Amino acid sequence: MESPANTRDINRKREDYLEWPDYFMATAFLAAKRSKDPCSQVSACIVNEDNVIVGIGYNGMPKKCSDDEFPWFKGSKSDLDNKYLYVCHAELNAILNKNSVDVRNCTMFVGLFPCNECAKVIIQSGVKQIIYMSDKHGMKQSTIASKRMLDAAGIKYKQFAPKNRKIIIDFDEINWNDQNQLPTSPVMDNTAKLEKMSLSNGLRTRLDLEHSFNGHKPQES
Ligand SMILES: [Zn+2]
Repeated sequence: MESPANTRDINRKREDYLEWPDYFMATAFLAAKRSKDPCSQVSACIVNEDNVIVGIGYNGMPKKCSDDEFPWFKGSKSDLDNKYLYVCHAELNAILNKNSVDVRNCTMFVGLFPCNECAKVIIQSGVKQIIYMSDKHGMKQSTIASKRMLDAAGIKYKQFAPKNRKIIIDFDEINWNDQNQLPTSPVMDNTAKLEKMSLSNGLRTRLDLEHSFNGHKPQES
């Protein structure tokens, strides 16, 4: 089967582009791949009203708290040996990582429904909407408390319905030889010749620019 890229009309706008919601959720999922947590890789992507990403975060240890030294356990008898007291959740990191003055009226795309602690931060930050992928802890008290606070604060939340169930990033997908983002440049002449200059102290090579631009002499600055 021919791919859309092979059947595309190169003089018309692409129709198979990634739409905003899928793009933002995919960005969050990509960031989750940075997580060192062996059990849950969560991430959040914050978007402002102009569809600009203003913050991305994933779950991880606080800065300078080595993720090689702090525990990733979740079933140890001692709370101090479990990860929960240490890990910063994705939502917190995304808000703290913001590259804007604030995140008021922004939308947060997140893999997992925010816990009660993250809900507090989300409310205080001014985020107005949450788009989540999974609510697998919906029956837990932390999620029930989270929704109670979000409801009271008037923050909307809804489950994400992706248009594309799978988005693949293939670094070999783009054929750079077919890319025409800029107007055509003067064509390099295949006959561009390397002029060998014989010098007294040896042999030096230089590219002859005058010939390689089909006679269009580059402007001198
Ligand atoms: Zn949380």
